[in-house]
Amino acid sequence: MTNNVQCKSRGVNRWIMSMIRNRRILVGLQDEKRVILIRKGCPQGGILSPFLWNLVVNELLEYTWDKMPSDLQGFADDMSLVSIVTAPKRPNGKPGYDADTLREVTQKSLNSVNAWCKRSGLKLSHLKSHCVMFTNRRNWSFDRPLKVDGAEIDVLGSTKFLGIILDSKLSWNEHIDNLCKKTKGILMQCRRVVGPTWGFKPATMRWVYDVMVKPILSYGATIWVNGTKTKHNQQLLSGVQRLANVIITGALPTTPGSALDVINGSPPLHLWLAEEAAKGALRLKNLGHWLPPPAGRANMRLTSHITTIENTLRSIPECKLERDETTPKLCIDQQFEIEIPTRESYHEKDYTEFGATCFTDGSKTSEGVGSGVVINATIGGETINHEESYHLNEHCTVFQAEVHAVGQAATYLLEKEVKDQSILINCDSQSAIRAINSTIIRNHTILETSRKLNALGKSNTVLLRWIPAHQGHEGNERADTLAKNGANMSDNPTMVKLPIPRGVCYAALRRKTIAEWRRNFKISPPKVFSTMWRDRFSKELPKLGKRDLRTATQILTGHACLNYHLSKINRDIAPTCSLCQEENETVEHVLAKCPKLWELRVEFFDSHFTTVRDIVDRHTLSHIVNFLHRTGQLKTLEAK
Ligand SMILES: [Zn+2]
Repeated sequence: MTNNVQCKSRGVNRWIMSMIRNRRILVGLQDEKRVILIRKGCPQGGILSPFLWNLVVNELLEYTWDKMPSDLQGFADDMSLVSIVTAPKRPNGKPGYDADTLREVTQKSLNSVNAWCKRSGLKLSHLKSHCVMFTNRRNWSFDRPLKVDGAEIDVLGSTKFLGIILDSKLSWNEHIDNLCKKTKGILMQCRRVVGPTWGFKPATMRWVYDVMVKPILSYGATIWVNGTKTKHNQQLLSGVQRLANVIITGALPTTPGSALDVINGSPPLHLWLAEEAAKGALRLKNLGHWLPPPAGRANMRLTSHITTIENTLRSIPECKLERDETTPKLCIDQQFEIEIPTRESYHEKDYTEFGATCFTDGSKTSEGVGSGVVINATIGGETINHEESYHLNEHCTVFQAEVHAVGQAATYLLEKEVKDQSILINCDSQSAIRAINSTIIRNHTILETSRKLNALGKSNTVLLRWIPAHQGHEGNERADTLAKNGANMSDNPTMVKLPIPRGVCYAALRRKTIAEWRRNFKISPPKVFSTMWRDRFSKELPKLGKRDLRTATQILTGHACLNYHLSKINRDIAPTCSLCQEENETVEHVLAKCPKLWELRVEFFDSHFTTVRDIVDRHTLSHIVNFLHRTGQLKTLEAK
C-alpha cells in the first residue's frame, strides 16, 4: 500500500484501499459536467487522511545523516530543512560561519528530499520553496544558488512557519508588526459596530477582546517572547490594547493609555505576553516537550527564549514545586466499577452485602486541606473499624483531597492483603469518580489512585460509588469530620505532599505580572488619574453600562467633554466654565468648585464646596457619574 506498510488485519487493509480507490469527483461549470476518477491523494478533511500521509512521509523523516545532513521538520505537508554549521575554519585560518558549507549541506539534503518526492509520485515545487539565512552577519553570499531540478530557490529575509514569521535575525519584529496589524484590523471591524452611545455593551466588547483578539496575539508567544523586550515592539503592542480600550470605554482620543489599562484591568500586553509565554512553557514541561537551554552560546547577542522563560520561572517559588500534570496516560481495562446513582435512586439499592465498606472525603478550611477515610470491614471473622485523617500540603485543591482519600482507602486494604472480597468505596465527589475512571489520565494524583484501585481490583470486586454529601449518611458525615480534622492539623508532622495543580503556578505568574505592572505604572503615572483613582473602583467599573463607563473614564482621567479639554482639540471653544465663566471648565471645577452647582452638590455630596479627593474618597463611582450627568455640563462629542 504505502511503502509496503501493512496493517496486521487484512480486513482493515481492504477497507482502507476500497475507500481510497474508485473515488470520483464531479466538476461542473455552467452546463458542462465531468466526472473524474482520482488516482492520487487522500480525501480532503478525512479523519484517516493525516494518518495515511504520515505513513508516506515517515520514510523521509527517518532518513539518516548520510542522506540528510540537515534537520528535517514536518507538519503535514509543510516541510522545513534546518541546516546548521558551527564555526568551521575559514581559509584564512580564522573561525567563522562559512555560507558555502551551509549551502552544500542544504543542497545535499534538498536533493534527497527531491529524489524521495519523485519516487513517491510527489513533486517538490521550487516556487513554493524558499530559503532564509539566519545570521547576524550583514555580508554573506552563496557562490551558487540552491536549486531544485535546475530551478533556483529564492533567498528571502523571512519566512512563515506554522503561523509564526521567522526573520533572518530572529528579532521577531516582523512577526509582532504583522500581529499588531492583523489584530488592529479586527478591532477596527468591531469599531464599526460600536459607537460612544450605541452598539456592543462594554462587557461584550471586553469579551471580544479577551476571547477573540488576545489569543491571536499570544499564539506561540513562548517562542517569540524575546521580541517583546524592545521598546519599539512594546509600543506597537500597546497601540493594539489602546485601540481595544478606547472602543470598550468610549474614551476621548487624548486619554493616556496607561490610565485606560487600569480602568479596564488589562496589564500592558508585553507583560501579559511574558506571562502567557511562561504558561505555555509550563504546559510543555508537563508534557515533557521542554528542552534545556542551548549550551555554550555566551558570545551570541541573542538570548534563547528558553533562557528567558527559565529565568522567569526560577523567580517564582511555586513554579519550582513538582506539578500534578503529566503526560497523558491511557488507562483502559479498569479493574473496578463505578456507579453514580441519581439523588432519587440512591436509596433504592441495598449495599449491605459488601465485605468492606469505605467512606472517603476531602475538605478545605481556613487552616488547610485534608482528607478523611473510614473503613468498616469484616474479613475472615476479624472486624476492622479504621479511621484516619490526613493533612495535605498547602496549594492542594479539595478535588485532589477527594481523589487522595479514595487512594488511601485502597492503600489500607492492600496493606491488609484483603482478597476475594466485595469492596464498596463511597465518595461524595462525582468529578473525582469520573476522573479516576477516565480513559486518559493527565494528573499524578489521579493516576496514583487509579493504580491503587486497579491493584485492589485484581483480587477483589471493587465498586466506587457516589454518595450524596450532607444528607445525614453516617459514614459520609464521619469521613467529612475526619477530613476537616485533617485540614485543621496544620502542625501535623506527617503531612502528605501532593504535587501542585497548575492553577497555583498560573496564579503566581499572574501576581508577578500585576506587581511588575504596578512598578512600571508608578514610574510615570498620568497626573489627574493618579489623584482620582481608588483601588475599590476596579470592582465597580466592569458593572457599569456604556454611558456610565464613558463618563467614569472621563472623570478618572480628566480627559472629558468639558470646555477646557474641548478647547485643546478645537480652538473655537472657550476653555471657561459655561455656567460661572470664572474658571476653566475641568472635571475638578464641575465636581468640586463651580459656584453655580452648589445646590446639586449638597444633594449629592452633602457640602457646598469640597475637593475632588474628598469626593472620590467618600463616594462610589456611579454616584459621582450620576452627579456629572445631572449637571448637564458634559457635551456630546460626535464620534468619528
Ligand atoms: Zn463654573
